[in-house]
Amino acid sequence: MRPSLLDPLFGRVAALPGVGPKTAKLFDRLLAKPGGEARVLDLLFHLPSNVIDRSARPTIAAAPLDTMVVLKVRVAELRRPQGRYSKAPYRVLVEDETGDVELVFFLANQDWIERSLPLGATRWISGRIELYDGRRQIVHPDRVLDEAGFAKLPVFEAVYGLTEGLQARYVLRATEEALARLPALPEWQDASVLAANKLPPFVEALRAAHRPENAGALSVQHPARQRLALDELLASQLALRLIRAKLRRPAGRAHIGDGRFTRAIEAALPFRLTGAQRRTLKDIDADLASDKRMLRLVQGDVGSGKTIVAALAIARVAESGRQSALMAPTEILARQHYERLAPLFEGAGLRIALLTGRVKPSERAGLHAAIGAGEIDVVIGTHALVQGDLAFHDLGLAVVDEQHRFGVEQRLALGAKGDGVDVLVMTATPIPRTLALTAFGDMDCSALDEKPPGRTSVSTRALPADRIGEVVGGLQRALAQGARAYWVCPLVEENEELDLAAAEARHADLVTYFGASVGLVHGRMKGAEKDAVMEGFQRGEIKILVATTVIEVGVDVPEATIMVIEHAERFGLAQLHQLRGRVGRGKGESSCLLLYKGPLSEAAKARLTTIRQTEDGFRIAEEDLRLRGEGEILGVRQAGLPGFRLADLSAHARLLAIARDDAELILRRDPDLVSERGAALRALLYLFERDEAVRLLRAG
Ligand code: ADP
Ligand code: MG
Repeated sequence: MRPSLLDPLFGRVAALPGVGPKTAKLFDRLLAKPGGEARVLDLLFHLPSNVIDRSARPTIAAAPLDTMVVLKVRVAELRRPQGRYSKAPYRVLVEDETGDVELVFFLANQDWIERSLPLGATRWISGRIELYDGRRQIVHPDRVLDEAGFAKLPVFEAVYGLTEGLQARYVLRATEEALARLPALPEWQDASVLAANKLPPFVEALRAAHRPENAGALSVQHPARQRLALDELLASQLALRLIRAKLRRPAGRAHIGDGRFTRAIEAALPFRLTGAQRRTLKDIDADLASDKRMLRLVQGDVGSGKTIVAALAIARVAESGRQSALMAPTEILARQHYERLAPLFEGAGLRIALLTGRVKPSERAGLHAAIGAGEIDVVIGTHALVQGDLAFHDLGLAVVDEQHRFGVEQRLALGAKGDGVDVLVMTATPIPRTLALTAFGDMDCSALDEKPPGRTSVSTRALPADRIGEVVGGLQRALAQGARAYWVCPLVEENEELDLAAAEARHADLVTYFGASVGLVHGRMKGAEKDAVMEGFQRGEIKILVATTVIEVGVDVPEATIMVIEHAERFGLAQLHQLRGRVGRGKGESSCLLLYKGPLSEAAKARLTTIRQTEDGFRIAEEDLRLRGEGEILGVRQAGLPGFRLADLSAHARLLAIARDDAELILRRDPDLVSERGAALRALLYLFERDEAVRLLRAG
């Protein structure tokens, strides 16, 4: 059971003072898993992505442009817009002895303005001055305060990712309340590790992370961030080891096939396997045939053909009469696998089923029963496969696709759904080899280091965003010749609603040029809608697919030959590489256009250069690691590997090594975590929701 001292952290955000039912819903949307409720813990792990620094207190004349400043001013003139329905902004002229500046409020509440800024009053204004038509102005100052308000104004204020309707001050207030409720927690880290790395206690680190005092405090290398990352990594490494010990404990089973299914499937393929695919399959076949348990990682760049390797492994296991499960990270991918593989498997006489969160409860029961009775040979699904009470008749092989989307150890749990289940993990993440080994533990590795023949290289260009007109013109010509294109609109504002609005606006824009052949897909769409659009694109009824990053992983439409990425400067290298990997899959010549908005940071420049120079996933990975290792502050959403909430594997590689060594030592000394530190470590596992691993402990 979870130690009761963690209870305050697992309480609902809704129960915090100042969070009403309406705001609570917004917090759920921002922080909780779909359909779930936001907990205090989720709020505390939602770290600031930026910081407002109000330490500058210049005079108006001396104030730098486009920089947050706090000005002490007198209200000199109120310029109410004329006419009741005027859309003109309300302007307020304020001054000090050195000059004046105009405050500009669009669609403003006039009463509020006149109450907050009475003529002649002294006020403190926080905001950024910009030049407009030669005049100094502040559009929507972030604070307008009197003396009393100013006394309470924080000099540094954390900025959080938001969702529409949720105001920053609610997040700030709720976070303060959550911090105030942090219980005293036992120290789970080794004292010498903390001392050697100058890391603060967990609670202190969490406080510091939420109260940044400068941009440096947001760096992934800040001691507070390092401490939190180390905690998460230690939890993950412990869980990984506990689950692996459990997986390894029972011997595996030998799956000896007679080749009937594998031969049928290979014969039905419209292509010949590459050398790398054959080599990898030989590794896998040897694992399957041995009575040792398989724990193998197949690393292969996007498009290297991992799916068919998995399919043949599944067929081999089916030959020995056992079931397989293939887990994909998203509904779209699970469905795509299902649609691709169903004809192949069914043609060979295998029974295949799709099990995702979208299967209706009424059908789910039937599916579960069929799987439990062994009437299904292959189940393809999302994490619905490990959730709930699905029981297999005789699971022989668990395949986890695109592993980096999952927490590693969480997903190995699929392998715990049977006796001596063999586990095959497939990843397209270009994680450098060294890192992969540490992150995935002592798995055996195979590399699909050869692309299927006929792949064309993708010509990649970077263009400033103001040349978008040329891009549209180019698309027009390409589409006239039958091309299909992706158009990716990324997360820009760290605000899902605004990002979505940007994608919708771009979609509307392109529709005016290209008409109905432009589709839109985004993460907020209902599953069935999303599928309909994806299918339209696959069939070619949709020629331009405007997408948020939901298409990042795995989607395979060989006819698509153009990838346009807006705000490419915002993406990490690995993401750019993944996105570009969606094209260059068919016969057509492919191109990738990176639209960027300047001025570019040094790191962004380096990323765009790298992505233009090479298509080698491993080289890109090394470069990514180098760039991030230098401590560029990346938004939370760009953090290294999903599955971690606080750690960024590529920036925290050193911490990962520490956590790995420590986890090994801990379990060697105290395998059941019964010592005093062991009890603290159990709390750590619960804190990072590695409950699955704690359960294994109790089971012995
Ligand atoms: P990924 O490794 O990114 O998961 P997929 O398995 O989706 O790649 O394969 C990408 C595309 O390459 C698919 O359309 C697949 O049918 C095709 N493919 C796979 N292996 C080969 C091969 N040996 N020769 C030609 N095409 C192949
Ligand atoms: Mg794939």
